[in-house]
Amino acid sequence: MRKVASETQPSIRIRRRDTAAVAALGSTVLLLLWIFGELGFVQAFVAIATVGALSVFYYLTVSTTLNPRLAAPVEPEPEERPADRVPADAMLESLPIPVLMIGAGGRIESANPAAREFVGLGSTSGNLSAVLRQPKVLEAVSAALRGTPVKPVEYSNMAPVESHVRAFVAPLKIDSDPVLPWRAMLVLTDETSIKRADRMRADFLANASHELRTPLASLAGFIETLRGHAREDEEARERFLGIMFDQTERMQRLINDLLSLSRIEMDEHVQPSGEADISAVAEDVIDFLRPQLAAKSIELETDIVKGAVATGDRDQLTEVMINLVENAIKYSPRETLISLELITDAPREEAEKRELTLEGESSRLSLAMPPSDPGERYVVVRVRDRGKGIERPNLPRLSERFYRVDGQKSGPKEGTGLGLAIVKHIINRHRGGFTVESSPGHGSVFSVFLPMAREQAADSVDETVDQDS
Ligand code: ADP
Repeated sequence: MRKVASETQPSIRIRRRDTAAVAALGSTVLLLLWIFGELGFVQAFVAIATVGALSVFYYLTVSTTLNPRLAAPVEPEPEERPADRVPADAMLESLPIPVLMIGAGGRIESANPAAREFVGLGSTSGNLSAVLRQPKVLEAVSAALRGTPVKPVEYSNMAPVESHVRAFVAPLKIDSDPVLPWRAMLVLTDETSIKRADRMRADFLANASHELRTPLASLAGFIETLRGHAREDEEARERFLGIMFDQTERMQRLINDLLSLSRIEMDEHVQPSGEADISAVAEDVIDFLRPQLAAKSIELETDIVKGAVATGDRDQLTEVMINLVENAIKYSPRETLISLELITDAPREEAEKRELTLEGESSRLSLAMPPSDPGERYVVVRVRDRGKGIERPNLPRLSERFYRVDGQKSGPKEGTGLGLAIVKHIINRHRGGFTVESSPGHGSVFSVFLPMAREQAADSVDETVDQDS
């Protein structure tokens, strides 16, 4: 960067020099005149004083008009300060994108740390074909080594983990190497997350439209029938209107769930800062679901500690609890028992409860995990039903959008397959955990755990200290 001169030091230097020259010249002439007797002492003294005064006057004013170099501030020549320039090598070293320089025969001449990690290259350099077995990339590199410009190439790996990469290859001419002047610069960009997001968006649209198309087609069919041969059949009309009402309600539920999911996803990265009294939430949810419990004669057994306060958004946590208890009701046979347990101030191991608790062939899986913080205490909600249970292979898919276990009957209110996806996203937003344990034929336990409110956690630490002392 060029630096603009901000002070007038050089112009002052020139003025001083000019003034001194004029004063010295004038004084010398007058001294000589005095020495050779042409001037008396007093005359010479007055003349020298006059020359001095004129020099000071010149220094202060006239110099700038007589000497154009002084009128404008002088801009010094830009200085090259080697310390200001960052060497290209240092920049490449800290670049988080893999960059490699390939020389004759495909030998890796240099690679930045990101590239070494990406292709699994040790400290010694090797040949590109040994670490990157991608024919399209190797072809592009060979072309670049002949000085031919090449287009970016893409390649994908499906194992051991899915990855999608775009490789940019450019020929570089090194003038100091007259024998083999061409090198190939290879830049690799990981596009896996972009590809995955694209596919998820496409799948989501396909699923959402499929889920809406089915009830819409059935509605259109019933309307057609009602306008045709069922027009005069009162009994059929009543039955069809009932089914149409259920289908419309289902579409409403689906749209509400989709809106809810997209709202939650939008601020999933922002952890809620408020406090939610989970004990009060549990009481509200029980009151809200009482009619559904009564409709299937299901008994709800509760073990709810009072005043369990978590860091969180009360409305979203109410949605979590409704989804879990509603599922327990939906997937339980009539006249069975559901248990709702709420504990507080639980350390991580207790919140996760890794040991299996159900009889039979029970399996357990974490659907969401909080970041590891050894000091964190949790509020835990556990919902247990004695329904059909879920086979082990289905567990990992439970929180996928629109996933429903085949053959699961949820009664007249058919589910949307979005409830557990909503639970998972809310719990992730709260930096909490979500686990499921299930045993076919014996039922399931769905648990969520949430960071306890800070003040409460501090109080409980104080209490422990008090008790100890
Ligand atoms: P849905 O609206 O279909 O209930 P969810 O996302 O809540 O959607 O659940 C996804 C699937 O997980 C359900 O379709 C069901 O097959 C299974 N499931 C959820 N909860 C239970 C449960 N308590 N017992 C058995 N299966 C369950």
